[in-house]
Amino acid sequence: MNRKQRRALNRNLDKNTAANLTEKISQFDKMPQQCSACQKAFDKKDKDMVKSWSVVVKQEVVRLFCPDCIKAAKEILKNNGTRTQD
Ligand SMILES: [Zn+2]
Repeated sequence: MNRKQRRALNRNLDKNTAANLTEKISQFDKMPQQCSACQKAFDKKDKDMVKSWSVVVKQEVVRLFCPDCIKAAKEILKNNGTRTQD
């Protein structure tokens, strides 16, 4: 693996962090100002916040999630991992 490939891989791993998307999305003025789940305020100038929050872009709708909600969502996914047919 050459350096360029490794950089591309790292970029892919990080691509959902707010840090990588805030600048891009703010150009379109679509960046939410708060967590899409709990409405906690998001400060895009706060570097720690920008690094830890996640951005989900789907069909031009931008959603933002705080670490607490990301954690909660992961717990739900984990609990539903062995979901039986209803
Ligand atoms: Zn939240």
